Amino acid sequence: MLDSDKCDTKTRVSRYGIMGGTFDPVHYGHLVTAEAVRDEFKLDKVVFVPTGKPPHKKGYKVTDAKHRYLMTVLATVTNPFFEVSRIEIDREGYTYTIDTILEFKKMQPEDTKIYFITGADAVLEILTWKKVGELLRLCNFVAATRPGYEPSQLNEMIKYVEKVHGSTIHMVEVPAMAISSTDIRNRIKANRPIKYLVPESVEYYIMKNGLYR
Ligand code: ATP
Ligand code: MG
Repeated sequence: MLDSDKCDTKTRVSRYGIMGGTFDPVHYGHLVTAEAVRDEFKLDKVVFVPTGKPPHKKGYKVTDAKHRYLMTVLATVTNPFFEVSRIEIDREGYTYTIDTILEFKKMQPEDTKIYFITGADAVLEILTWKKVGELLRLCNFVAATRPGYEPSQLNEMIKYVEKVHGSTIHMVEVPAMAISSTDIRNRIKANRPIKYLVPESVEYYIMKNGLYR
């Protein structure tokens, strides 16, 4: 915790984590990452924000937002610090993180600190995001380790982005979960199990709605 935040609870600045993702479907990698960052930065809340129409996934047919949102709600229901926002799925057209952060900031007290959480693979990608310089100034960026990306490699990427934009990105090591939504979708297509990769409620939701077949 920063010295400037050490005041009584009434005046203490709120610290919100924002975890953006396609969540198609949400899995334990997302949940473990969000919880690790929440603990590391003593966040009051982590808001999961399923994307609407993600501009970087134009090539692949993303599942209906209604399903992705509901699965994220089911997955986060057991954690009192986790919430899910419809902010992006209710927006028309492609969704950009900068618009989400600006909208989110408008709804919170001005001094709320925002921690934007991404996995290692998203760090280099952020250079291509809309108004990335402004985005890096508006929130604290947290890059979580992810299997397939060596921490040293992630560090290099962070240093590069920091050099280009002159902003700090925090790195957090999270317990390794070699899970991806792509792998889960492929497993379902191939009739292979997804047990223990996603919460049971999400597994049942996928089966009940015949998703990813
Ligand atoms: P897909 O395979 O469809 O890209 P994904 O598993 O990467 O799915 P996303 O919804 O794209 O999931 O990811 C949302 C965020 O969560 C991204 O910042 C991503 O880097 C991070 N993330 C996803 N899986 C993990 C994991 N296993 N460990 C750490 N971070 C993860
Ligand atoms: Mg991904």
